[in-house]
Order: sequence, then structure tokens, then C-alpha cells
Amino acid sequence: MIEVRDLNVTFSSGKRQNHVVRDISFSVARGETLGIVGESGCGKSTVLRCLSGMEKGWSGEIALAGRTVGKSRSLDDLKCAQMVFQDPYGSLHPRHRIGTALAEPLRAMGRQEIWRTVERSLRQVGLPAAFANRFPHELSGGQRQRVAIARALILAPPILLLDEPTSALDVSIQAEILNLLADQRDEMGLTYVLVSHDLAVIAHMCDRVLIMQDGRFVDELSKRDLQDGKTHDDYARELFEAT
Ligand code: ATP
Ligand code: MG
Repeated sequence: MIEVRDLNVTFSSGKRQNHVVRDISFSVARGETLGIVGESGCGKSTVLRCLSGMEKGWSGEIALAGRTVGKSRSLDDLKCAQMVFQDPYGSLHPRHRIGTALAEPLRAMGRQEIWRTVERSLRQVGLPAAFANRFPHELSGGQRQRVAIARALILAPPILLLDEPTSALDVSIQAEILNLLADQRDEMGLTYVLVSHDLAVIAHMCDRVLIMQDGRFVDELSKRDLQDGKTHDDYARELFEAT
């Protein structure tokens, strides 16, 4: 479902070149959840942004759902992989009602169909249809993250890219959101790439995890390794020891 070959990203500021993603290759099968962990600044979000089409300055090859993605992506490609961020405010306009935010990607539909789709997508994430009339600040953090997930799923993309989707939430709400994500994945056969600092989250959700360091993947752990706390990587060992 996801094929990445020799992905490289370099940011330049003035004369300085910052080679943030270095020769990364990986693939993710349909229905699989791949975890990515690594120290702050090692390039995790940059990898997700390349897959979602938000990052333009990359080189290498990316294929999503069997189609190779170019650097200037068409709308069709954008429907393929949607991002969910740590802070749902990032994807929700503060002055747009929830219904407006959810309806935005549906512009091609008629009014009635838009409303039905918005209602259905709110129900899908466990929220009442009346929430369509609320503004983002009138929701709790967990409810806002549910809306962000509904928005990411509204065009039924096969891939979700989850960047620390629960780290801004209270622990009890974290579990609710993870269960919602796992249920959606299992019901619809979705493919996830999940970035997290939390090994408990990774172990709960992921079939496999790649450890990233200074822009490279340095280790890969199976679900079994995760459960046994087995790794060659110092950062991952520190994470294991902290949990
Ligand atoms: P965190 O765990 O803190 O979210 P991360 O692994 O997601 O970190 P990235 O956001 O991918 O890290 O950033 C990797 C590096 O690239 C950092 O050094 C960051 O400063 C740099 N970087 C990210 N985006 C840009 C940009 N648009 N322009 C210049 N440098 C950038
Ligand atoms: Mg990040």
C-alpha cells in the first residue's frame, strides 16, 4: 500500500544544508500499522509530510496504493493519504463550525449529500450530529481529535498518517482515541503510519516499528521484539527502560 525508495529531504537556510531524511526505504502492506519512533528532530514528521504531499522538496520514489506520486500532486493523490496531527487545532479553523470543516473536502457533492456525509462521519467517530453546529473551542480535546479523525477519513482514504495523534490528550482519552483508530482500521482495512514517543501506544497499535536516528532508519522491531523490549538502538532502549 505504501512503497518508499531512497527518500531524501534537505532543507537549506542560507549556505547551510540540513540533510534531514537520508536514503530511507520502507514499505507498508494494506491493513498494516507501521510505527516510527526516534528522538525529537530526527525527521519523523518530515517523512509523514512527504507521504501526505505537504512536503515538496524531496527526492526518491513514493508509491501509494499502487500509484507513483509525483512532487506536484494532483487532488486524487491527496485523497490517498491523510494526516492526523498532535494538535487538532492545526487542522481545524477556529472560526469555522465543525460542519463547515467536515464539508470542505466534499465540495463536489450536492447540499443534501454533503449534510448526510457530515452526519455519518460524526457518527462514525462517536459524536452526535448536532456537533456540526459547534465551533472547535466548544469541544473538549478528545472531541476535537475525533473531529480531526472524521475530517481525515471523510473522503475514505486508504492511508492515514498519524503524527503523535494522542500525545496532547489525557491518558484516559488517549485510550479512547486509539481504540477508535484501531476500530476504523480494522473495519475498513486502512493502512497506518504512526509516529509516537510513547512505546505503550506503539506496542498497542503497531505491527512493526522503525527506529529513526539523524534522518536514517537504524533498527526495525517486530511486535514480538516490542513486547520483549528487544532492540539494538540506545534511544529505543531508553524508551523501553522508561516504560
Ligand atoms: P519531533 O519528535 O520533535 O516532532 P521530528 O522527528 O518530527 O521531531 P521533524 O519535524 O521531521 O522532526 O524535523 C526534522 C528536522 O528538520 C529538524 O531539525 C527541523 O528543525 C528541520 N525542519 C523541519 N521542517 C523544516 C522546514 N520547513 N525548514 C527547515 N528545517 C525544517
Ligand atoms: Mg514531529
